[in-house]
Amino acid sequence: MIEIEKIAEILKKGYLSYKTRNRLIKKALAEHFGYRNVSVRRDKYIPVWVEIKVRVKKPDHKCLLGQQCEVCKKITEETKLKVQQILDETNLSSDLKVYLDKLKLRVHTYTITVELID
Ligand SMILES: [Zn+2]
Repeated sequence: MIEIEKIAEILKKGYLSYKTRNRLIKKALAEHFGYRNVSVRRDKYIPVWVEIKVRVKKPDHKCLLGQQCEVCKKITEETKLKVQQILDETNLSSDLKVYLDKLKLRVHTYTITVELID
């Protein structure tokens, strides 16, 4: 939690480069999921876009034919919510939105992918 508070402080100070921002995302998520299990990558062509990938342990069972069962789906959804919660708590999520002037919209510029590992 201390790390998260520090990040929130840094964010209050204003503009961040994509690189720093992405490093902060990784830090914030690593505190909960473990450093090894978080990858934060910016898109090669659209630097504003960020791909957040989190690996969590798969429950001890076999899903049918490689498809995700209800249990695995639930874990995936809960993990995504947790990632979102951390991004909101740190206020990093507000830095991950862009304002589209013509459409008067604020859109998210990130994707959250959850990978279940054995
Ligand atoms: Zn399953």
